[in-house]
Amino acid sequence: MKIWKIRHMGGIRGTIAGLLLLLMTGMSGCALGSSEESGTQTPQEQTQNQTQDSPDRTDSDEMPVTEGTAHSDANSQEPESPAAESAGNTAASDGSEEIEEGEQFEEFGVIFETTHDIVYCTADLVNLRSAPSYDGDVLRQAEKGEEFVRTGKGEGEWDRIEDGSGNLYYAASRYLSRYNPLEAEGFTWDLNDLQTVSTARQLYDYEEMVSDLKELEEAYPEHLSVSSLGTTVDGRDIFLAVLGNPDASGAIIVQAAIHAREYMTVLLTMKQLEYYLYYYDTGYYNGIPYSEIFEHTAVYVIPMLNPDGVTISQKGLEGIRLEAVREEILSWYERDSRNGVTSYSPSDYLKYFKANANGVDLNRNFDMGWEEFAGSAEPGAEKYKGEAPGSEKESAALIELTDLVLPQAVISYHATGSILYWDYGQTGEFREECESLTKLISGITGYQMIYKENDGGVDAAGYSDWAAGVRGIPAVTIEIGTGRAPLSIEEFPAVWDRNREVIAAVAARYMEE
Ligand SMILES: [Zn+2]
Repeated sequence: MKIWKIRHMGGIRGTIAGLLLLLMTGMSGCALGSSEESGTQTPQEQTQNQTQDSPDRTDSDEMPVTEGTAHSDANSQEPESPAAESAGNTAASDGSEEIEEGEQFEEFGVIFETTHDIVYCTADLVNLRSAPSYDGDVLRQAEKGEEFVRTGKGEGEWDRIEDGSGNLYYAASRYLSRYNPLEAEGFTWDLNDLQTVSTARQLYDYEEMVSDLKELEEAYPEHLSVSSLGTTVDGRDIFLAVLGNPDASGAIIVQAAIHAREYMTVLLTMKQLEYYLYYYDTGYYNGIPYSEIFEHTAVYVIPMLNPDGVTISQKGLEGIRLEAVREEILSWYERDSRNGVTSYSPSDYLKYFKANANGVDLNRNFDMGWEEFAGSAEPGAEKYKGEAPGSEKESAALIELTDLVLPQAVISYHATGSILYWDYGQTGEFREECESLTKLISGITGYQMIYKENDGGVDAAGYSDWAAGVRGIPAVTIEIGTGRAPLSIEEFPAVWDRNREVIAAVAARYMEE
């Protein structure tokens, strides 16, 4: 029984999440919702799949006709029988042998699983056929938003559905959703509604993030839980914000600002959190309510993995609390300046800093190609990989979180370049999944996918390399922006527009798993 299985998996993850959260500070749980069956479909797919055989409707020339499906004469019901009765999906017409939810049956050589879902057509003029095949007769066409009972969820691309009159049809699964697309069409959003996270200034700092996280958690206690994954060398917390249902069967990790100077990613992920929380009960991605998405996929956001580094890049040595750390950073600059490694002024050296307060480039501190990566021999602004993989509190916390949450995907936000790294030499089905996930993100952001042969020898030992290469988790590194990091605040509106939907899209992708 699929629904049971999903809930069961949720329980396992819930236990893991619960253990994790007990280890950290207290977090509140949410009720687990029902399981999810709807697929997603792109407008391109809808318009590309025109039927050759679309029949009597004369408007098929102007309107994109979407493939629907068919219907079996043998099984058609009396026109009067209401949907509620046919939803019972009896195997025998006298109801003597009811098929239980989740049981399998075969028709036309296709395996179906019994369901009683209410589903809606997501496109105009979906063909309703007499058989689960393009060879099936088109019995009629359904309008967008028309409601059916799905009596059989097909293993392949077809579902078995009944209308309110009890007529039986087969329709292409990708044009059916448990969510009414007409309701989603009413959703609009306005950045002016979001008053917590200020996007007015470039220097969105650690203190402001902490204050905003607290404010968001207080405003949306049912949908956001904030905790600390640990404390850094200079005494800052590595905050984790869990959006949605922590007991959900699905989970993704979104991590930002592993590199100090790329701190616009903090502002972006904080704004994404505020946006999804504000529109939690009213917003939609691709016809699916945000509330459903985040009920089934929890989103673990670490908006500032490297708070000491971000502070160094934003405020220089004045931002650093410990005298010993200040002195050490200064010594790195003096050494690099003396050796010709840097030609920067002291203030620029700090502004373009990428590492943490130990001078370790955290995104070169993971156990994937770490041995081979040479980089810098000593601590400094960038490219020093540390004494061992996971040697730093920040990277160790991220490794631990990943192994506890076991996410379906991870996203790593960096700046800059408006490109997507995802190809670490994966093969087979796993490669296809990684590529498909990245295509989804590319379609939303417009950022270009980089293939390994064209990546210019990107450095290894990063979080995404490790997640994909060692743990087998699809991992996408999203490089926002176009200018040099730290990005100017003037880039934020474009960055926001391109990335607003990314988290919902990725979470929705893993709703069913
Ligand atoms: Zn980076």
